[in-house]
Amino acid sequence: MNNRKCSHNSCNYEIYDSNKEQKCIFHCSKDDWYSIQNGKKFWNEEKVKEFWRRIREEKVTKKDYSFLCFVFPKFEKYPNAKQLNLDSKEWELVQGIKNIESINTLILDDKIDGINFWRRNSQLVFEKDVYFDGSKFLDGANFDKIRFEKKLNFIGCEFYGDVFLRYISFNEDAIFTAVTFNDRVFIYKSELINSTFTFLDTKFNSRIVIKNLTNKNSKLNFDYTHFLENSIVFLSEIEIDYLHIQNLYNFSENFRITNLKVNNDLKIIDTNLNNIEFTNNDFSSIPIITFKGASFDNVKFNNIKWGSINLKRFGSNRDIFRQIKHQYDQQSNIIDANKFYSAEMNAYKKEIKNEKWRTHWQDKIIFCLSRISSNFSKNFFLPVFCLFISSSLFYLISFYKLDYSKIESFNVFSNHIFSTDWKLIFNEILLYANPFNTKLKGSALLWILHKSFSTYFIYQFVVALRRQTKR
Ligand SMILES: [Zn+2]
Repeated sequence: MNNRKCSHNSCNYEIYDSNKEQKCIFHCSKDDWYSIQNGKKFWNEEKVKEFWRRIREEKVTKKDYSFLCFVFPKFEKYPNAKQLNLDSKEWELVQGIKNIESINTLILDDKIDGINFWRRNSQLVFEKDVYFDGSKFLDGANFDKIRFEKKLNFIGCEFYGDVFLRYISFNEDAIFTAVTFNDRVFIYKSELINSTFTFLDTKFNSRIVIKNLTNKNSKLNFDYTHFLENSIVFLSEIEIDYLHIQNLYNFSENFRITNLKVNNDLKIIDTNLNNIEFTNNDFSSIPIITFKGASFDNVKFNNIKWGSINLKRFGSNRDIFRQIKHQYDQQSNIIDANKFYSAEMNAYKKEIKNEKWRTHWQDKIIFCLSRISSNFSKNFFLPVFCLFISSSLFYLISFYKLDYSKIESFNVFSNHIFSTDWKLIFNEILLYANPFNTKLKGSALLWILHKSFSTYFIYQFVVALRRQTKR
């Protein structure tokens, strides 16, 4: 009998199988527990079985959920229908759990004894905080069908196989801090209840799928999260109250967010959302949307319900409006582009209003002219109207002569007005306004001013027309 204690910090378990590291079954490196063929690990089944038996015996049944620096071998396989003695209908229930309610039924169902290797013959519930600090998972890890009543912590963990977290009920926070996922991660069909699900300083090297999440007053956080080259990110069918993305580093091959609904708070801070595709997302009920230091390069927005696009909801962030408008322009989505363009101009108006006339008179004049002449290229009728008004004014100043000395009374003046051939003058104005009429007429100074304004209004007309009808 070897009764010596494990050499790991203050570990009291005895050394397992006289391994040279002098460590217990939980802490030993398990380098000699498997062989590798064609990149796949082939495990010593006896040792794996013993490991999980000891996990149940020493940890789970004693409600000790600290797995600090444990080195996990492959996870035991679920028993199949035959082993469980289930008929096909019952097995269907186990295999194809459709919703969260059935997870609880399943948890309580005695027939499903043994479905999860963490604990046999009772509910699959972790009633206390669970810690996997510094743990290593050498092969696939499976946390399916567990109910976490308290916190779930993965800190500084490394995963070397596929990770499954499916059919889970999170009733408190779940946090992945400084975790490296070398293989795929699947977080499926789970519910978050008053829970904050956080990835902090975490690296994804392969595929990450988060799908079918329901929530009650819960948050999803990505903070200093790295999606490395060759990774594929797919977030889908998620309803969440709060989504916070901060310092996200996206080098993924493909990043899609589809059918996401955020109810209360959306924050994207100091993040480059390059190449992310947003499809069928609903942000319409969020009171305040915060995009701070976010950039949107080559981002695709398909069928996004933004709700009202105004300065109050988006925190007057002109550059964000400009970037989103630009992305919509790239996708030839003129309607949504124009909505963000309007917001951009309103933000600019607010910005320029606070500037001094002395230093920003040019900006202010151009801003006013653009607003009056075409409402920032949103109205192509306005420049035509302005062209006519300005031409009329210049024409009347240049050619309409009134001999003031002869106007002795209002009657004389009104007679004069009524006797004028306005139809002729109207025709003359139209000819004068004709942009292709370049023949100098009347005063050269007035003529050049008239032409300058006309050119400006025609330019505004073309821009507005293009903006409304291009592509
Ligand atoms: Zn130990």
